[in-house]
Amino acid sequence: MDYPRLFEFVESRKEEFLAELGSILRIQSVSADPTKKGEMLRCAEAVSAAMRSVGIENVKLHETEGNPLVYGDYQHSPGRPTVLVYGHYDVQPVDPVSEWETPPFEPTVRGSDLYARGSSDDKGQLFIHLKAFQAMKTIEGDFPVNLKYIFEGEEEIGSVHLEPFIRSHADLLKADVVVISDTAMYGRDMPTICYGLRGMAYTELTVRNAQVDLHSGSFGGAVENPVHVLADIISRLHDRYGRVTVPHFYDDVAQVSDVEREEIARLPYSDAEFLRQSGAVAPFGEYGYSTNERLWIRPTLDVNGIFGGFTGEGAKTIIPSKATAKISMRLVPDQKSTRVLDLFESFVREIAPPTAIVELKKLHSGEPAITPIDHPAVRAASAALEQVFGAKPYFIREGGSIPEVLTFQESLGAPVVLLGFGLPDENSHAPNEHLYLRHFFDGIKTVAVLYDKIGGK
Ligand SMILES: [Zn+2]
Repeated sequence: MDYPRLFEFVESRKEEFLAELGSILRIQSVSADPTKKGEMLRCAEAVSAAMRSVGIENVKLHETEGNPLVYGDYQHSPGRPTVLVYGHYDVQPVDPVSEWETPPFEPTVRGSDLYARGSSDDKGQLFIHLKAFQAMKTIEGDFPVNLKYIFEGEEEIGSVHLEPFIRSHADLLKADVVVISDTAMYGRDMPTICYGLRGMAYTELTVRNAQVDLHSGSFGGAVENPVHVLADIISRLHDRYGRVTVPHFYDDVAQVSDVEREEIARLPYSDAEFLRQSGAVAPFGEYGYSTNERLWIRPTLDVNGIFGGFTGEGAKTIIPSKATAKISMRLVPDQKSTRVLDLFESFVREIAPPTAIVELKKLHSGEPAITPIDHPAVRAASAALEQVFGAKPYFIREGGSIPEVLTFQESLGAPVVLLGFGLPDENSHAPNEHLYLRHFFDGIKTVAVLYDKIGGK
């Protein structure tokens, strides 16, 4: 593939690409706002039109009970790998509007950035893929891969209709690799690949004793206090080295290679910056691991809330009848949420005294996801980033979860590459959302090169 010609093509079309993206950014596709139904449809149609105009075929709106999904493909390379691209055309609400320096739906270039709601999350990133298609088609004429596109309009409200659609359309969406551009790079001009996400196991723990709160004068000292029991249980969930004490909790944690730990250590990081971002007093966590390792490669257990007894103004002399804690655990490969919840329950039952009743309720869970950094698809993405940015990319993980990643992995059996071109400080859910223009244009080049690398040409 003629990279110089491709790059030149993108450079020569900057104004045009920005104007086209602008027309999609002007549509107020706020999925959380029920009065914007018409805008959602208008946006789905605008995205479809943009797909057709670059030559993507079989473009179709798939109705759901919510907002339509937009599908399209271009499959003219038999025997070659198929890449499925996912993105979303809905955006976050814009309140408080008064804090925007320029109106959220009037795209404006200021300095090195394009300001508009959706510029970074995710219309700008979705558009990168359409323009990469256009660039490749214009320069090369044919593709070394087959391409499929699925864009949803409900990502910001929980992707409720995406999962059933993926499961019921596994043939339509069948692919060898899924590429998602909806995450952030580690910093400006720092090409980054995110290759792992933590999972989640969420439970609610209640300690009960009497049917009702008891008078502490009549009963205090003679019956168990559920708040004390709960506090005692919680205090025994970690040791003094910040490790979770639930037996076998770490048994299934996959060994992280030295190469991966070196990659994490290579990332620019400072405690001062971390404290500025978090507002915390000091870094804290499991002994023997750096902050990024604690966030990405280690599982955690956190009490998210605790309540019980009298919490109002003044004094009330009772022995509470019950106390509850919400407890979540972030999981890493190869932990399984069901097993971790079972281990937690066994441990709590073992340490709870016989003087009170312990109840556990499973709230929700999701499995950790990973695409190994030596996977061919990740290597292709890495090579593409290096080609365009002129630097070896950083490999990061993400401490949170992206549920659709797992759905794609499970339903299609395909690896997912998170090739995000946003930045952590682009205000994706806040006023003055913006997109760093260099990442937009270099993103277009990178995606085109990625198709070339995946195609193995
Ligand atoms: Zn997004």
